[in-house]
Amino acid sequence: MYAEIIVDIASEQVDRVFTYRVPEGMRLQSGMRVRVPFGLREKEGFVIRLKEQADYDEKKIKPVIAPLEDYPVLLPPLMALAEEIRDRYHCSLCEALRLMLPSEMRGGRVKVKTEAYAQITIPPDDVDEAIHKQSRAPKRKLVLTLLADGEPHLLAELRAMVRDVKPALDALEKQELIRVFEKEALRAPYYGRPERAPDFELTEEQQEALSELLPALNGRAKPFLLHGVTGSGKTEVYIRLVQEALRRKKGAIILVPEIVLTPQMIGFFRSRFGDAMAVLHSRLTPGERFDEWRRIRLGQARIVIGARSAVFAPVENLGAIIVDEEHEQTYLSERFPQYDAREIAVSRGKREKAVVVLASATPSIYSYAMTRRGDYSLLEMPHRVLNRPMPDVHIVDMREELRLGNRGMFSRLLEEKLDDCIRNGHQAMLFINRRGYASAVSCRKCGETIRCSRCDVSMTYHSVDRTLRCHYCGAVQPLPSVCPSCGSTYLKPLGTGTQKVEEELNRRFPGAGVIRMDVDTTAGRNAHFELIDRFRAGQAKILLGTQMIAKGLDFPSVTLVGAVLADLTLDFPDYRAPERTYQLLVQVAGRAGRGEKPGEVVIQTYKPDHYAIAEAAHQDYRAFFGNEFERRKAGLYPPFTMMVRFLCEDKAMENAMAAAQAIRTQIMKEFSGTGLGRRILFIRADEAPIAKLQDRARAHVLMKLLNHPDTEKILERFQEMTRGEYPARVQLEINPASLA
Ligand code: ADP
Ligand code: ZN
Ligand code: ZN
Repeated sequence: MYAEIIVDIASEQVDRVFTYRVPEGMRLQSGMRVRVPFGLREKEGFVIRLKEQADYDEKKIKPVIAPLEDYPVLLPPLMALAEEIRDRYHCSLCEALRLMLPSEMRGGRVKVKTEAYAQITIPPDDVDEAIHKQSRAPKRKLVLTLLADGEPHLLAELRAMVRDVKPALDALEKQELIRVFEKEALRAPYYGRPERAPDFELTEEQQEALSELLPALNGRAKPFLLHGVTGSGKTEVYIRLVQEALRRKKGAIILVPEIVLTPQMIGFFRSRFGDAMAVLHSRLTPGERFDEWRRIRLGQARIVIGARSAVFAPVENLGAIIVDEEHEQTYLSERFPQYDAREIAVSRGKREKAVVVLASATPSIYSYAMTRRGDYSLLEMPHRVLNRPMPDVHIVDMREELRLGNRGMFSRLLEEKLDDCIRNGHQAMLFINRRGYASAVSCRKCGETIRCSRCDVSMTYHSVDRTLRCHYCGAVQPLPSVCPSCGSTYLKPLGTGTQKVEEELNRRFPGAGVIRMDVDTTAGRNAHFELIDRFRAGQAKILLGTQMIAKGLDFPSVTLVGAVLADLTLDFPDYRAPERTYQLLVQVAGRAGRGEKPGEVVIQTYKPDHYAIAEAAHQDYRAFFGNEFERRKAGLYPPFTMMVRFLCEDKAMENAMAAAQAIRTQIMKEFSGTGLGRRILFIRADEAPIAKLQDRARAHVLMKLLNHPDTEKILERFQEMTRGEYPARVQLEINPASLA
């Protein structure tokens, strides 16, 4: 027998299968990991295929050393998926295979944990006598008494109860009265606070959605886009779908944008499915992740809730993949290969005949466009459960506040509503847009941000040389001293810190209690969960936070939501800025009035007329989609084109820029004037918007490519180019989550 093996080295030179001999008596299957000799070293590898015959000189073929596990870590459909990923994202097969298992498994950095136990080995009837016989050895007697129930007892517990227990155990073991043994222990992560599992009568809309979804469990349906407003009860639809999948002995994967933001979802699922559910996300310890992964692989857990990479969870006989909040950019991997978990979900669902549900109150432009084309089926849940009203949304024009002499961060309306809310014993959430990676400059009087005349994106302010720059076309101009549209001198970079707002709230609403959730207060491993639990328990009236409180949370006693400044995402130098703003505002607004009391929302903005803000206030997704789709078409942005870039990083900007220039020159040389060259609509080498990150200077070659079958050829060539010699590290990114 021979095995074709991919050696676990991510180098282009070894991106092919190597043949090894399977020694007599070694039981190998495809999908297993093995140790093999490679050059002068030993390496890990994946068995891709077994075959009877070697295709070259048998004497030269080296033997497999040993399997690393006694089961295949890769399921056949996931091996096929890895091949697809290699082709689609232009990486090596090895890099694609690595996505399929916890990274710590490689190189044996995580091990199966065992715990020592002791248990009596004699029949129950003989125990009393055995205890009696030990009366001259009190410790042994005590140990036997503790073990008298016949169950295995943790050694650690015995140690805690009997001081210096070891000699006694040794003696008892020698007398063959007990045995001491190691047993595998599973490290269990935090599964969220258990939630009561209410048995709802489904709403009509939930029922209708399910009546489309359940039959699809028989396989071969298009992916679904479930567009359900905030509070329409989408979670319950997921749960019923998963229950039905389980009933048919199938498994399910539920993807959530960031697990730490959706503790309630985990709680719900855990309450309904108990041990049949596992979680996979980045906040687990390596040991927890490994054990959860094994519970899934070995079929003990058939339901997985997890972040992006859980789309690769080794669930056999997969019935459903649900992508909650599918519009979130966290579904795009920021590491190479830069896969899109939604794309993977769709393709995995198709291959394994599982139902795929992408769900959101604010679908991505891409997914909604797919329903228009008929590639996805659209399901709609336009109303909240139990006829609960959508919240009333008020837009406050902050320019007007300034004109009336209010220079504070709260409008009069927001302050008034906060006051009411607290006095009535309700709770409020205040949302602060995280400051962009680079800030836009806006006029506090007329609300205009300074934009690039050629690109339709905000320019960003560089304080070092007091210039404004466009990160799409590279235009540079000095910061003007007066507003170009109204002549005022109130030009200011946007943005307020959460801490400042917290202080202000404590001053104005003493005794109300403020819980602040931002990167600083949530650094601890379970800090998110604790803060959320405290707010739910009513220990504070106001929850103040960044993006991380915008989505997924369900607090029935929140009646007021305020967006302190809605504009920040709008001013990101990114063509997706309106989409992100719309999504964020609708999601934030959706936190209000989820219980029995109706909700209200106050959105503060300098741009009350911007379509993304106005349409978010009306929660009019279709109108927003229409506008945004047209704008993308006119500006030739995705989904009509692809944004592609080479990111060049080095300690010195000189080198990063030199690499970018070299790549640009090479592309121009190869493509200009050719048929393929016509697919490149725009190309520019420039410093990246984040010019420095973790001490590395960053430059990029940014391009817009037409969506066309030919473009694959260009991308293949680009991928090849990344392997050239440059004075900086070079990486190709295709439609990345961030162009920063
Ligand atoms: P979404 O995810 O669509 O924003 P959720 O799934 O969080 O909405 O549901 C909103 C609220 O409605 C939750 O508190 C949930 O427990 C409740 N709910 C869901 N379905 C029903 C139902 N059929 N009857 C009553 N309440 C429901
Ligand atoms: Zn520009
Ligand atoms: Zn102005």
